[in-house]
Amino acid sequence: MYEDEEPTDVPDGGFPTVYRDDPETSLRGMARDWTREIWSDAPGTDVLLDVFNYQYSEDDAFNRRVEDTIRGHVERITGESVFDVVPPELEEGPRPRTRELPTLWAIRGLTPQGTARLLERGVWSFPSLTLLIYPRSVTIPSWLFMVEGFLRDDDAKIRAAIMRVLEEDEMRAWIVRMVGASPEFAGWPIERAVQEVMDSLRIETLQLGNGNYISNVIMHSPTRDVREWRRWVAHLRSRRYRSFSIGTGRVRRAIPCPGCKSVGHPSHLCPFPATRGWNGPSPGQGVFGDKRPKDDPSLAPESTRRRNPSNVLPRPNGGGRSYQSGRRDNRHPSYTPSREGQDNQGYRPWGVPGPTPSRGRGGGTSGSRGRGNGGARGGMRGSSHSGGYGRYDGDSYTDGHGGSHGRGREGGHSGGRGGGGHGRESGAGRHRN
Ligand SMILES: [Zn+2]
Repeated sequence: MYEDEEPTDVPDGGFPTVYRDDPETSLRGMARDWTREIWSDAPGTDVLLDVFNYQYSEDDAFNRRVEDTIRGHVERITGESVFDVVPPELEEGPRPRTRELPTLWAIRGLTPQGTARLLERGVWSFPSLTLLIYPRSVTIPSWLFMVEGFLRDDDAKIRAAIMRVLEEDEMRAWIVRMVGASPEFAGWPIERAVQEVMDSLRIETLQLGNGNYISNVIMHSPTRDVREWRRWVAHLRSRRYRSFSIGTGRVRRAIPCPGCKSVGHPSHLCPFPATRGWNGPSPGQGVFGDKRPKDDPSLAPESTRRRNPSNVLPRPNGGGRSYQSGRRDNRHPSYTPSREGQDNQGYRPWGVPGPTPSRGRGGGTSGSRGRGNGGARGGMRGSSHSGGYGRYDGDSYTDGHGGSHGRGREGGHSGGRGGGGHGRESGAGRHRN
């Protein structure tokens, strides 16, 4: 049925990165039993996936069509046919807000070869459907937060403003402790390890249609302890980042793109549709390819958009597209939600309202934040922080330090087709540079 569909080629530098605000973002709202079941399968036999633009739905006809389309592509990609395509399952209880409904699908029962085949590309964008494939793992994000408020798009100055906070005595001591306890840096001279982490700090600035700038702040995690990471990030998200030269960066609430689910851009700045040869829709335009407006030339950088009406499914109620990032770096910290591993002392999986980041100022490694230095700045108060970031999380991550930095930059096409609902920002924006 999809034999003549070819996926979008992997662009130079890879597909854009899908940023998550927490290690378990993609499991947010998901039934714990779903996660438990999926994680109980043998290694190498499952993959997780987001369908670009898919939003949780109980419209069975629609879900069957999604399932059938996923199945058709997976059969073609892997050459296998004995597997299950599992839709997301809502946790029982009060229905969460739309943005917190689960969207992740799973494929179970693949051979290790089939799993590897799906993962080697990561993003499979076909005219009929776009799949973002992830390994069954949960990793600590490199995305820390997004700031707004800087008046110029000067990454060096923005970076310096972030660094100013990271280099406060208390903060530095905190980072030293995390790095010192991280198995990733075992055997490293501590100063070198800390420097490595500090050097991984990276800024990606985007410009909104109204001219304002927003910047993603990305940094390799100094720890593999999920709870510690959450405390640390919650604290960072509670701070203000002053440059005393181009204004002050204020942390924005994390809102996932309805298409790719990344928290790194508002929907109209989703970099996926700007990928050369992108076959999928734009955020908010439906799951199936035929939802895409054919009259928007900016969406079709190339001829690649082969949309042969004959193999396009009639679109049901819209959906969104999802995003995905291409590669994930397996060197990155990753843990299984079901396992309360050593690194994550006591970390409780899925859903169980996770350790609220924060407040416990107490012992162990986390201790550190005390209030610190500097008068006015409210010192390191414990995290708390706000909405948006809280307990759930996703695994996103991927760009490691080192390697992938280059990619994942937001592309920017213009045009304000705003996506569905959330995250829309006024106007068209573009990536700078
Ligand atoms: Zn997106």
